[in-house]
Amino acid sequence: MNSDWRSRVSEGTGTGPRNVPEPVYLDYAATTPVDPAVAEAVGRCLTGPDGLGNASSAAHPFGRRAAERIERARAEVAALIGAAAGDIVFTSGATESNNLAVLGAARANAHRGRHIVSSRIEHKAVLDPVKRLEKEGFAITLLSPDRSGRIDAQAVAAALRPDTVLVSIMLVNNEIGVIQDAAAIGALCRSRGVLFHTDAAQAAGKIPIDVRTLPLDFMSLTAHKLYGPKGIGALYVRSEARAHLQPIVFGGGQERGLRPGTLPTHQIVGFGVACDLALRVLSAERARLDGLRERLWRGLSTLGGAHANGEGAPCVPGILSVSFEGIEGESLVMGLRELALSTGSACNSASGEPSYVLRALGRDTQLAQSTLRLSYGRFSLPEHIDLAVDAIRREVTRLRALSPASEPAKASLGEALGEAGGPGQEVWVRFRLAVREGTVKSALFKAYGCPHTVAVTAWVAERLRGRSRAELAPGTPVEWADAFAVPVEKLGRLLAVEDALADCARHWPEPE
Ligand SMILES: *Cc1c(COP(=O)(O)O)cnc(C)c1O
Repeated sequence: MNSDWRSRVSEGTGTGPRNVPEPVYLDYAATTPVDPAVAEAVGRCLTGPDGLGNASSAAHPFGRRAAERIERARAEVAALIGAAAGDIVFTSGATESNNLAVLGAARANAHRGRHIVSSRIEHKAVLDPVKRLEKEGFAITLLSPDRSGRIDAQAVAAALRPDTVLVSIMLVNNEIGVIQDAAAIGALCRSRGVLFHTDAAQAAGKIPIDVRTLPLDFMSLTAHKLYGPKGIGALYVRSEARAHLQPIVFGGGQERGLRPGTLPTHQIVGFGVACDLALRVLSAERARLDGLRERLWRGLSTLGGAHANGEGAPCVPGILSVSFEGIEGESLVMGLRELALSTGSACNSASGEPSYVLRALGRDTQLAQSTLRLSYGRFSLPEHIDLAVDAIRREVTRLRALSPASEPAKASLGEALGEAGGPGQEVWVRFRLAVREGTVKSALFKAYGCPHTVAVTAWVAERLRGRSRAELAPGTPVEWADAFAVPVEKLGRLLAVEDALADCARHWPEPE
């Protein structure tokens, strides 16, 4: 566990393009670095004779050797969750496993009933197949979590109907790290004769899982969240539930016909090694990551106005989701270029929409949108956590000081004070102009909003000196948007800058 590129490239020789140091990697919940032992096993498989044959070619030794390596890996994957090797179906990852479990179990049982129970905080790889089933005529109940992020087993009980055939509730949430009570939910499902699937992509290798004691029928796994390669995963299918699952792709009959296609030997071998490693280091790593989580939260909580999402519920130690009061999320992330992390879910970052998971927890838009998900793991060190704490403290403090909320909105003698937007709104801009003999002597500003809003406000403030009340604005929002390459959908926010200037003109001080 050394401090190489897996945690941070900048230490030592590695730098990114144009010599910018690579950021500290704190996005383990999106994907983990591949462990060197895994990479070595995959490499050997790709170049050596073990990887040559097709595991279905039983007629020659190459095929038989590939089949042998795959069966060894299958046993390693199974061992991580206490399963029998025969209950593991290899897939391309948790997305496919979720699709196979949700679509396959619902369709195979449609004759018994057409109702499915899931939750609002599931990964899209469960929610989207569930929505697909709705189009096929299934009724769907999506449960909301309590404020700590937990789905109450009693709520599941209340949602079950005589025609319910499947419950799908994730084991660990990918945005907030909350562990669900799969034992209670599973026991309930079993007593009602309902199939139970859990998405364990974020749980496997992080918390102990034993399907011999957990009453569940299907469980999704993926290698790239536990230091294995991307593009390989598995669905655990309890042997008694096999008859209640139908495939979603059809072909050569591999994986008992549940997931046909030539097995990717090298990826499966890597997945096996990753599971074997994860099992061996699990308890020591769990304790170590718990320590890092405490260190991180100690550093961030003293900032004030910081809320740990999932507080009060059991969480995996490798994810800490924190919402900050009084900060605009995009500006926060923009200022944290030395950290590689996510805001909300990685899948949501591009859209700019506040996370549906955080909204389901009852966070308002501002808090949901100013949330950082810090996730760390095997190659993370205390110094990476300290660096993250320092950077986040610096940016949160800077942005809060920059916000109009940091000072009273009162003009002193000879000042023109104008503002637009306000607390709880997307933008809030204030100018404070010292006016002498009818012109601006100096200008100060405060701004809360996206990086564009803040940049344009600062730029405008620099150009106000010497201007008169009648010609206060240095240009128009359209010109500013042009100069700062502001995307059209954000142009509206720049109107606040113009409005704040107009407000200054309205509050022009009387000549002395
Ligand atoms: C990452 C993730 C997935 C998707 O897994 P892939 O292997 O990338 O398809 C599904 N569910 C959860 C909870 C995840 O964290």
